Amino acid sequence: MKNAAVFLDRDGVIIKDVPDIHRIEDIEVFSFSAEGIKILNRLGFLVIVVTNQPQVAKGLCTEDTVKAMNRKITEQLHAQGAKIDAVYYCPHHPDKGFSGENPEYKIDCACRKPKIGMIENAAGRFGIDLSRSFIIGDTMRDIKTGENVAMRYQNFRSVLVRSGANDDDDRFSAKPDFTADNLLDAARLIGKIVTKENKDAEG
Ligand SMILES: [Mg+2]
Ligand SMILES: [Zn+2]
Repeated sequence: MKNAAVFLDRDGVIIKDVPDIHRIEDIEVFSFSAEGIKILNRLGFLVIVVTNQPQVAKGLCTEDTVKAMNRKITEQLHAQGAKIDAVYYCPHHPDKGFSGENPEYKIDCACRKPKIGMIENAAGRFGIDLSRSFIIGDTMRDIKTGENVAMRYQNFRSVLVRSGANDDDDRFSAKPDFTADNLLDAARLIGKIVTKENKDAEG
């Protein structure tokens, strides 16, 4: 059987949301993140981060800084026994014409959420059955991403958490399948859902 995965947004889900975060010292991993990820590990899900980092396109930092930030986060989690299987980031931004921007990243790419490029790339690389997978995010952009995946891969589901921006961004009208306080609460919820579904399937 193919793998199932839980895709996690980074900022506002795993770490504290800092607008336009671009310095390593501003990373603050939530106290509950490791415990939530460990639950997902134990349930047998791959845990994959998918994060938009347009700060690169905006000229605020380099891709190397984004990679270093991601490494710091995953190492801190691993030290607590929580495993992140992969991190995908989108450094792009579509709107040109701002001072200090990095023009080579100012493109309309296929990876920036709510597009599903990062998720489909991961699915190809890890052999993921997206119709048994989830996304956890703190913005309507993440929930819209979930809907876009579900259009192609039925039963892909989203969980909106309230630990981040809490911006009901009206550029994206979307409806989460579930809501939870934070990543730990969301992981417990997914545990209940899949346990029940496995039971029902057994009959
Ligand atoms: Mg976020
Ligand atoms: Zn991109």
